[in-house]
Amino acid sequence: ERPIQWLLGDQLNPELDALDDAGEVLLIEAHGFADRKPYHAHKLTLVFSAMRHFRDELRERGHDVTYLKAASFGEGLDAFLADRSDPGLRLMRPASHGAGERLRELVDERGGSLELTENELFWTTPTDWREWADEPEGGWDGGSLLDGDGTAERTYRQEGWYRHVRRETGVLMDGDDPVGGEWNYDDLNRETPPDDWEPPERPRFEPDGLTRETHAWVRDRFDTWGEGSLDGFAWPVTRAAAREALDRFVRDGLPSFGRYQDAMVTGEPFLSHSLLSPAINLGLLDPREPVRAVEAAYEERGVEPGAYDPADGDAAGGTEATLDAFGDDEGSVDGDEGSVDGDEGSVDGDDSDADLPPVPLNAAEGFVRQVLGWREFTRHVYREAMPELSAANQLDQTRDLPPAYWDGDTDMTCLSEAVDHVREHGYAHHIERLMVLSNFALIYGADPAEVNEWFHLGFVDAYHWVTTPNVVAMGSFGTDVLSSKPYASSGSYVNRMSDHCASCPYAVSRTTGEGACPFNALYWDFLKENEETLRGTGRMGLMYSHVDDKDDEEWAAIRERAAAVRELAADGEL
Ligand code: FAD
Repeated sequence: ERPIQWLLGDQLNPELDALDDAGEVLLIEAHGFADRKPYHAHKLTLVFSAMRHFRDELRERGHDVTYLKAASFGEGLDAFLADRSDPGLRLMRPASHGAGERLRELVDERGGSLELTENELFWTTPTDWREWADEPEGGWDGGSLLDGDGTAERTYRQEGWYRHVRRETGVLMDGDDPVGGEWNYDDLNRETPPDDWEPPERPRFEPDGLTRETHAWVRDRFDTWGEGSLDGFAWPVTRAAAREALDRFVRDGLPSFGRYQDAMVTGEPFLSHSLLSPAINLGLLDPREPVRAVEAAYEERGVEPGAYDPADGDAAGGTEATLDAFGDDEGSVDGDEGSVDGDEGSVDGDDSDADLPPVPLNAAEGFVRQVLGWREFTRHVYREAMPELSAANQLDQTRDLPPAYWDGDTDMTCLSEAVDHVREHGYAHHIERLMVLSNFALIYGADPAEVNEWFHLGFVDAYHWVTTPNVVAMGSFGTDVLSSKPYASSGSYVNRMSDHCASCPYAVSRTTGEGACPFNALYWDFLKENEETLRGTGRMGLMYSHVDDKDDEEWAAIRERAAAVRELAADGEL
């Protein structure tokens, strides 16, 4: 008897090994979750449209698909299992904590059985993780990783994991060494573009009939948040479109990805980011694909770290020079080959690689680290640190998120830009997420669980397994399990990495008094407030030496301004 393969809404890949021997495929569109909270309209449209397209694609490929719409999985299973005797279902282990066991119970209760298999849509397995995690430090016995106040029994750092996985997979490796000799080129990835630089055009995937129909149903059926219309909805909802999005990124975005990765520009939500997280998190792309595509692009078009300036379009140092110095594989760096048969890696098929801008190593390595390093890392930390992780709050922060997070109504240019990007697109890039949205919430004192929920509802790529480590641990410092210090900063970071402060009515140069940048007083007040937890932590020494330099008068003014900012923010008047 061939198994019934049940696939969840974030497992939408028609090329899964799990489908090879499946006799039947089950998809349950359980939409009760969207009745309970106001999700972004684009997020619901994306998920349900991608599921429906996937159903049609599997049927075209000859699979026998049962597609059920239900309020809950239980209700869907009632319908599916009603007239079957002893049905055996198989499911790739869900990414969400505890979901595998919960679903198994639901199936058991209805007289069936559920086998849980490895989730193919992550590159590394829990066993791979344990092999690494136990090796270098040992110690943790697999019991509860976090205690009640968020203190981690043991901590993990992404960089070590990343190097391990690079070695194991051979990605961007030159024998035992990283290509180029360094593991990390982030010191080259902190520039802001000049005013006349234009980011690559965002690939747009126009909604088809099925997406329009799904969107109309979403709007009619649910209370949603964010941009209601389909204007501006450009996300890929099929595997073919996701593959095209990847090709377009590798062709156009990758060359400037590294250099401007941390930059923020008013009116430019996307810059050179790949915009691939929605597709990867739905399963439309296997995470190996973007990593391998970027590696291949580096092999074909690679230049030394920093040797390409997207702003003048010139490869400083020239392609040949670089390739001699950097090519780890001679065949791949010989620009004649591969450049003429353009059907690989290029969307139009007739572009030769010779016309494409080069890919500096800092861009390729930076991208690989995000997917192979950070994405896999957060997933494993989540697995180990749940369920405590979602409630972790070592700084005891309890304030409600200011209303500006919902309505975007604030004079702060950086915050209103970032919130508007989320409202409009269900997307903000990494630095807006980390250094504006979660940084402000952190130093304002917002409850990490509420911040997590806000991200979860508003972002098209948000799932519990990925928001929780990013928002609760990294962004809110609810626990030190994955970073040794909080990502807290004053307005000077935003000023350095963006053009926002020039057009902002608040003065980034001032900390106290009316009109001073709200980030500044909140930042110092946050450090003072949390001194007991933070002074001895990680790399906070320098910051606390500045805290120590301030006299009582300065502190009084800081406190006063911080209190005023908090009040204005809570009243929606910031
Ligand atoms: P790019 O900048 O092009 O990066 C490439 C890819 O790297 C991404 O597509 C993603 O797959 C991966 N990646 C990069 N950083 C991370 C990370 N820290 N964790 C996991 N994957 C990563 N990512 C989500 O997928 N869903 C979320 O809901 C989410 N919420 C976040 C909330 C906060 C507070 C922070 C700080 C980060 C969050 N991230 C989340 C991680 C990261 O910001 C997004 O993956 C990224 O911005 C997605 O846009 P992109 O595809 O254009 O990314």
